[in-house]
Amino acid sequence: MKAVVKTNREKGFELRDVPRPKPGLRDVVIRVKAAAICGSDLNFYVWDKGFCEGLVGSFPFIPGHECAGEVVEIGEAVTHVKLGDHVAFDSHIPCGHCKMCQLGKPHLCQDMGLFGHNIDGCFAEYAMARETGVRVLPEGMTWEQGAMLEPLGVVVRPVFESEVGMSTVCVTGCGPIGQFAIALASALGAYRIYAVDINPMRLELARKNGATDVINSKDYADFSEIILKETGGIDAVIEASGNEHVINEGLHTLLRGARMFMVGNPHGDITIKDPKRYITLGETTIKGNWGRSMFWTWDKAEKALLSGKVNLEHIITHRFPLEKFEEAFEIALSGKGCKVLLIP
Ligand SMILES: [Zn+2]
Ligand SMILES: [Zn+2]
Repeated sequence: MKAVVKTNREKGFELRDVPRPKPGLRDVVIRVKAAAICGSDLNFYVWDKGFCEGLVGSFPFIPGHECAGEVVEIGEAVTHVKLGDHVAFDSHIPCGHCKMCQLGKPHLCQDMGLFGHNIDGCFAEYAMARETGVRVLPEGMTWEQGAMLEPLGVVVRPVFESEVGMSTVCVTGCGPIGQFAIALASALGAYRIYAVDINPMRLELARKNGATDVINSKDYADFSEIILKETGGIDAVIEASGNEHVINEGLHTLLRGARMFMVGNPHGDITIKDPKRYITLGETTIKGNWGRSMFWTWDKAEKALLSGKVNLEHIITHRFPLEKFEEAFEIALSGKGCKVLLIP
């Protein structure tokens, strides 16, 4: 089968002919129908050392972890998936036995397989995952919607736990994850949604996805001043930039007792300014988020898409065949698009 492969620590991937995966007892093999490029795949593409080391198993490996496809082969012990099923994969492949798995939080598994990281991923004609990470798609869901459940799922807990209904929220960083957060906050009835980014095209998309106010932080680096002036303080920040200054500005916009969800990955250490004021006395909750809870967030993400309340029209901007992966990655890197798909 054709697959995009990472062969070394240099920039780039290769298109190679590799053997189709053979399922073990509990594995599920799919014919990939749609796959999407995630920020982490871009890190693998350029080989961002700080991000990649420790996440990747060995070379060569197939990247890609957001996909949907049709089941074409299953292991003998697979029970809840059958041939012909339309499925998506969670990138977390929990072990099922560790402390966190036993505590009912498999998405925080201490011995986690990471699809497309330390287990071969989906930028290929066929892909394989263990049954524990497989989700059967509901009736009527398209392949592209199915492939978006994994990234959309990332923002489900942050947006639900922010109790956005008739609240004012700010989404900092308007890449695909930020756009999903905006669309979902809008679907859940947020009163006002600020979107902050440095890319005018992405701010335009943010408006289309439901942002009521957009701020270009290239022009207004200290954007908290604007938000505080207009609102007197907001209820929640969903932080999807990973940028130190933006994180501090986000904290400054919050009302006392409010919360910030850290969804973006900071590259390296960050310093919080005046933590006494903005965290301790502010009674601020800062919460992390690793992917989707399994499978509560999937249920919500599926309903968000099937209801049409979260629409992919202004999130998926490009589609490329597998052979044109280089073009796809360059577009995704350039910031000229939003979600970029590979259709094997
Ligand atoms: Zn992802
Ligand atoms: Zn585990």
